[in-house]
Amino acid sequence: MELEFLGTGAGQPSKQRNVSSIALRMLNERNEVWLFDVGEATQHQLLRSNTRSRKVRKIFITHMHGDHIFGLPGFLTSRNFQASETSDNGRPTDIEIFGPRGLKNFVINALKYSQVRLQYHIKFITAAPGKIFEDDQFVVKAYPMNHGIEDYAYRVEEKSTAGQLQVERLLDLGLKPGPIFWSSQNRRNDHFR
Ligand SMILES: [Zn+2]
Repeated sequence: MELEFLGTGAGQPSKQRNVSSIALRMLNERNEVWLFDVGEATQHQLLRSNTRSRKVRKIFITHMHGDHIFGLPGFLTSRNFQASETSDNGRPTDIEIFGPRGLKNFVINALKYSQVRLQYHIKFITAAPGKIFEDDQFVVKAYPMNHGIEDYAYRVEEKSTAGQLQVERLLDLGLKPGPIFWSSQNRRNDHFR
């Protein structure tokens, strides 16, 4: 899992720092990228990075100030032309967008008035304090921030997974097999018996 900072500036872009966007690259964990905020020209920053737009499957928007969302309609439109290697019909994969009230209207109207017809589906999830996403790997929780308008920080938690007993290393260390050792081996295979 890697964090890639696509923009760390605020208010307006500078030559050195673009406005807000962070890519959470989870290529090993689930072959996906999640974006946090999509400031203006985020798609240009992505072109300069190793992150592919087609891998972006979830977008989390912290708040509705323009330096955090003005790149979203352009990003979604360009993504229309980037078929996923995993979709069976050549279309880009569907995407989920989490964010404050008003975000859905902003995106839908921007796409509507610029006559964009997306080939993929967007699912909008309105953020609220607490758990906003959970699957068997990750939990995402939203925390309200004090910023003058509705604003959230997002916490991404990876769930614990049971490890595997490294039998060969235990034997190398001279540890004698006990009940836990055998139950572990029975789950995996019983060739050590
Ligand atoms: Zn702001």
